[in-house]
Formats: sequence, C-alpha cells, structure tokens
Amino acid sequence: MKVYKFGGTSVGSAERFRALVPLINDDTQKIVVLSAMAGTTNALVEMSELFSDGKTNEARKKCEALRKQYHSVAAELFASVTWSDRANDLINEHFDYIAGLFSREYSRHNEKRILARGELISTALLHFFLSETGIDSKLLPALNFMRIDKDGEPDYFYIRENLKREMASLSDENILITQGFICRNVFGETDNLRRGGSDYSATIIGAAIGAEEVQIWTDISGFHNNDPRYVANTSAIRELSFDEAAELAYFGAKILHPSSVNPARLKKIPVRLKNTLDPSDEGTLITSESKPEDYKAVAAKDGIIVVRIRSDRMLQAYGFMGRIFDVFESFKTPIDMITTSEVAVSLTIDEPAYLPEIIKALEKLGTVEVEQEQTIICVVGDFRTGRVGSAPEIFEALDTIPVKMISYGGSDNSVSILIDTKNKIEALKALSNKLFPAK
Ligand code: ASP
Ligand code: MG
Repeated sequence: MKVYKFGGTSVGSAERFRALVPLINDDTQKIVVLSAMAGTTNALVEMSELFSDGKTNEARKKCEALRKQYHSVAAELFASVTWSDRANDLINEHFDYIAGLFSREYSRHNEKRILARGELISTALLHFFLSETGIDSKLLPALNFMRIDKDGEPDYFYIRENLKREMASLSDENILITQGFICRNVFGETDNLRRGGSDYSATIIGAAIGAEEVQIWTDISGFHNNDPRYVANTSAIRELSFDEAAELAYFGAKILHPSSVNPARLKKIPVRLKNTLDPSDEGTLITSESKPEDYKAVAAKDGIIVVRIRSDRMLQAYGFMGRIFDVFESFKTPIDMITTSEVAVSLTIDEPAYLPEIIKALEKLGTVEVEQEQTIICVVGDFRTGRVGSAPEIFEALDTIPVKMISYGGSDNSVSILIDTKNKIEALKALSNKLFPAK
C-alpha cells in the first residue's frame, strides 16, 4: 500500500480538489493524507491569537469570514443539491464549534481544537466530492489512531494497533482519506504535529503500516539543487539519501517537514516528492540507497543567531564545553552549528526566546558576543572523511563574501557555512554558478 500526502495548495480551491481525483483514482489501495486548504491554518492561528488576547469579537469576525469562504468553495465544487447541502452542513458544524469555543475561556487545548478544524474540513470535502463523483472512499479519522507520547514523539505501537483496527472494517474502498497534522496527545486531547506537520503524519503512517512508498505531493518537482526563489536555472534532484534529505529539509528547503524523514528512514520506506502541477515528472526519490555525488544541493536557513564565548580559562581546561552546553540545555534551546578554538567557542541557535537569559548565564563563563541576522548555507554533497580536496569549489565561490563560521566534518554529507543574511542571495548565486554550472 502507498501513502499519498497532498499539501494545502493541492486542495487550495474547488479546481484543485477536482484535479486531485485522477491522481488518486486507480485500482490500488492507498491512504491519502490531506493538509487544510491553503491559508486556513494561518487564519485559524490568527483567530486563536485574537481569542487568547481576549479580542473575541474580532476572532468571531475572522471565523465568519472563513466560514463564508468555505461556503463559496462548496458552491463551486458540488454539482448536486444533496452533496452541497451536506458540505454546507459540515462547514457550519465546524464553524459553529469554533464560535462556541470563543464563549469559553481561552486555553492551549481550545486553541488546538480550533487548529484541527482545517484538516477535518478538507478531508470531509474530498470524501464528499468523491462520493458525488461516484468513487468509493472512506474517512479514517486521524484522532482515532494518531497519537504522540509525553515527549511529543509518535507512539508507534498505539498508532499501528489503532490504524489496524480502523482498517479492519474496510470493504473494498481503495481510497482511504485521513487528516494530516492532527493527533492526540498523551492525555487523549486534540493536539498537532506542529506547523507543516502533515508530511510527518504521512511518513508516520507509512512507517506504521510498512508502506511500499510515501508520496509527498506539492507544487514543485521535488527538491531543487538551489533555492528557486533566489537563483535562476535550478534543477530538480532525482535521488537523495535520507540523510541528505534531512539536511536539506532542515536547512531551509521548505518542501518537506524536517521531522518527516525520521519515520521513513527508520523503516526504510522510500519517499517520493511529486508535483501536482506536473504529475508525470518523476520528482525526487529519497531512499537509503542513493549514491553520494560531489555536490548535490545548496540550501539556506535564515534567522540564525551566533553566540561567541571567549575565555582564557578554557585553555587546556576540561568541562568547559559541558558548562556551556548546560546553559543551552537549561533553556531548552537547541544548538545548530558549533566551532571551537583553544580559547573561544562560536555556536548558533535559531530560537531567540531565551537569548537574554542565555547571555546572562554565559557571561559567568567568559566574554560573550552575539550577532543576529545570520544565515547558514548548507551544501549537501560527498564530504566523507578520507576524501581528498576539501571542497575547494565552495570557498572559491564564496571568495568575495565574509565567511563567519565553517562546519566541516560533522557529517558525511554536508558542510555548513555561516554568513550575514544580507549576503545570502549573492552566496547562493555564486555557489550555483560554481557547483552546478550550466551544461
Ligand atoms: N495545515 C497545517 C499547517 O499549515 C499542516 C500542514 O499543512 O502540513 O501547518
Ligand atoms: Mg508543507
């Protein structure tokens, strides 16, 4: 069995819902994981923020505006009175539910209940539309099987057992539709896998059922070798390993949720990135087999903060690094990149929430310097130890750009370079010209 995941733009309008049908309607059984319609989760987040600020009237207004949008999608999508009535009832049920929550007190749990509506509506609309078209399908409610444990990690045992139970009652429907993103937490409450989490839902489901393949359908033909927003003539990468894909997903290539690589890697389930606008394009295939190449891709991650700690006490001392890490650990702030010398350590974080507290704690260990608006450029390629010629092309390409940190040797398949964000586009272009010259 395969798992297909469609993102928000793939279900972004009545027209896109229609275009989805030929992609899923064949005689093989599959689980179709859907995101909310494009823009919906953002709108629900905005409503929740207003709700949490006590601005319930404004929240209600937003809610009604979104309800109206959904009614107009339904009017366009359904041809029969029966199915458009059912769709409108469903839409009203969900928006009445949200409006009802606004009369209660704000809580994180109520917020998560609101955020879950987008996927609940999109999946029901597809199910109704298929029914109207005469195609059998079945809804598998994600809240009946998708669950995270106390650390926020997928509870595979629970997921597998409950998904099995949900699927046991199937007759001969080939298309099983479920919600991405939403789940239950360890208390059984409605929760979610964080923004962009539908990709993660798809690979968790793929791993739980031992799927033959997970297909992530978006609006671009797979991972590109550079960022198409800034660089002309990028091209799709046809094959990546799980490790390479994880680096690219983490370092800025927005196409895939970084956590979603893990479940697939764990169970060696191939992941294929496909383009709904160009379905015949083979896209990118991610497997454990993919062969390394000198250079495969470049990606950039903004919003990076570099923290430098200098102390003569570090000289030949032990335990110093441990004390630095303890500071970041106590403020639950992950470190991305790190470079060291005998008397100084530079490291980067992308979470500024506790920056003032972190600086204060680090000042007890040495002099601290902080710089914001930094970008990590990640080059994915073959950097296995023992390889000769340590990537001279990268540094030739960047010879007019101040390089502030380099991390080489941390991984077999990537090199990370820190630069000022203002130099990002120039760096991406220079790397593209050097590493992927036009053939
Ligand atoms: N709808 C959710 C979001 O916008 C999940 C997803 O699209 O993957 O974050
Ligand atoms: Mg996404």
